[in-house]
Amino acid sequence: MELIFASHNENKTREIRDLLPQYQIRSLRDLDFREEIPETGDTLQENAAIKAEVIYKQFGLPVFADDTGLIVPSLDGAPGVYSARYAGPEANAQANMNLLLETLKSQTDRQAYFETLICYIDGKGKSHFFSGQVEGEILESRRGEGGFGYDPIFRPNGYELSFAQMEASEKNKISHRGRALERFIQFLQIS
Ligand code: IMP
Repeated sequence: MELIFASHNENKTREIRDLLPQYQIRSLRDLDFREEIPETGDTLQENAAIKAEVIYKQFGLPVFADDTGLIVPSLDGAPGVYSARYAGPEANAQANMNLLLETLKSQTDRQAYFETLICYIDGKGKSHFFSGQVEGEILESRRGEGGFGYDPIFRPNGYELSFAQMEASEKNKISHRGRALERFIQFLQIS
């Protein structure tokens, strides 16, 4: 079965392909869709829905989109839905991590979790939502070269390694996106 993954992020697309080997995943790049889809929602769920709807309207095929946030309860949930733009509209992962490390300098409570919301629009245009979380802590400095985004400063509970120090397959097994996708796959298998 063919599914569109509504994302321009090639790192994520790689993870999704690893996690869904039984599906042929077409990315926005494969479809030659180059427009940025504005993430104007106030929640991860709204942003996932916006991305999936734009692509469903354009192509009329089953599509899913995800939106992820890193939530730090001691910072009132920041960076949360604004994780991609935490250090400013053009911020990259390095700037976002620097700001988070700086902001947490005086904080003893460094607990955090990633949350992913997936919106799937089926062939009849009906939306379905799936979520996944992984809890952990924000390290005091970067560790590891793998992964992307905030991975070098996030250590999941029960592990010594940051996400950036793990093999991709190990991260995918326990990650927010992996867990949300597991629920999504279960749904696809029974529907
Ligand atoms: P979005 O889901 O692409 O909007 O991602 C929001 C922000 O979270 C971006 O800064 C991403 O780099 C970051 N992010 C998303 N998924 C991950 C992940 O698996 N690990 C680390 N950072 C992530």
